[in-house]
Amino acid sequence: CGIFGAYSPMGKKVLEDVYLGLYALQHRGQEAAGVAWVNPQGRISSIKGSGLVHLALNQAELAAVETSCAIGHVRYSTAGGSELANAQPLTASTSKTSLAVAHNGNLTNAGGIKLFLENRGAIFHSATDTEVILHLMAHQPHKESLDALLDSLTRLRGAYSLAMVIGQDLVAARDPWGFRPLVIGKRDDVFYVSSETCALNLVGASVVREVEPGEVVIFGRKGMDSIPIPVDVKRRYGCAFEFVYFARPDSVISGRSVYEVRKELGRKLADRAPCPEAHLATGMPDSGTIAALGYAEKSATPYEQTVVRNRYVGRTFIEPTQRVRELGVRIKLNPITEVLSGKNVVVVDDSIVRGTTCQRMISMIKACGASQVHVRISSPPVRFPCYYGIDTPTRVELAAARMNLRQLEREVGADSLSYITEEDLIEAIGLPCGEVCTACFSGQYMEGGEDNEPEL
Ligand code: 5GP
Ligand code: SF4
Ligand code: MG
Repeated sequence: CGIFGAYSPMGKKVLEDVYLGLYALQHRGQEAAGVAWVNPQGRISSIKGSGLVHLALNQAELAAVETSCAIGHVRYSTAGGSELANAQPLTASTSKTSLAVAHNGNLTNAGGIKLFLENRGAIFHSATDTEVILHLMAHQPHKESLDALLDSLTRLRGAYSLAMVIGQDLVAARDPWGFRPLVIGKRDDVFYVSSETCALNLVGASVVREVEPGEVVIFGRKGMDSIPIPVDVKRRYGCAFEFVYFARPDSVISGRSVYEVRKELGRKLADRAPCPEAHLATGMPDSGTIAALGYAEKSATPYEQTVVRNRYVGRTFIEPTQRVRELGVRIKLNPITEVLSGKNVVVVDDSIVRGTTCQRMISMIKACGASQVHVRISSPPVRFPCYYGIDTPTRVELAAARMNLRQLEREVGADSLSYITEEDLIEAIGLPCGEVCTACFSGQYMEGGEDNEPEL
């Protein structure tokens, strides 16, 4: 998912900026979009809709709304189905205040908390893990809202980057492990929070800094304030997959350019798995193209675009059904016979999940007359599901968990198939290895994370 928030202490209208921010975060979720804001009565209003931002929301309508405090969300379902009831922001009012929350990530102990609260009379309206945050807050009516929030956050395990409206304030929070990105921006008097820096660029804001793992940041009348979440953690778990695939390449996460990391992943791949017989290197559009550039550069293989992508079709993986997913590849991609015919081709992609994309691409490329197709993957094999907000399927559906490398090579029809290692991945990301999550590659989940699967 993607989240965005804006706050102007001078009373400027901010809802159009939230719309635009969501537009730049569209790649993080295409299932639904929504916004929530403080209305002139000091309460919270919200609008949500299905599908892409421009279909779910009306820009002109939002631009006219008088509000200086607003948040938004683009949804891609990890917990809960794709019904509109599960779309965000979620809103609630307690005896003390009104609340709205937009969540990116996935809580690993939501099931347990939900059971606990239901035994005490709570009635849940959605199937999302996010709703437990609101209920936890509502169950502490004697406390001030921020205290209730802090107390609630200390009970959560797993991944949460949050943009919230609490009363009249914008509040951002990031889990102590730092799974999902969250960054603060500013333009004139207006503060922004965003999943990625690319959305700050779009609204003309400069990057102030990241919300730190384990930090709550409050934007209110008196400016910006920060409170730590009192949870001790042994290490951080910044998601490696954001760099590999999920984030936009024009974003910067933890001070590292996503573009640069992807290119470096490609260079590492060239060292790890050279292919001297190749005539050309190409990337699977769009996710493999930057790593392919790095591969071509490092191995001195000519880079060619060999497949054209219909840019008006959404990402195949994210559309929910297997049927749509399978059709998606054909709807989306068309290989260029004139470039491929008679050639030995290195095809670089960012990852293999179910293996569908790879298999289809190879058969399309071979049907164009390519002599050999060598597949190079710019991440280690994905063998484990993610419980922290990336929608990987269960173990039995993961191609690299079901098969060894040679079997997978045969299954997808490649003349050769190679991956980078986990060490290559960590080196390319360039952050200390104790700060990066690689659980979907290694199976090493955060403490307690492996036996706390959310019910998907
Ligand atoms: P597959 O076809 O093997 O199931 O999926 C792999 C392809 O899906 C890759 O080209 C990758 O770029 C793309 N992809 C899209 N969304 C995701 C995601 O959330 N996780 C992963 N691992 N790959 C994704
Ligand atoms: Fe990211 Fe994989 Fe960790 Fe999930 S398990 S947070 S996708 S690195
Ligand atoms: Mg792809």
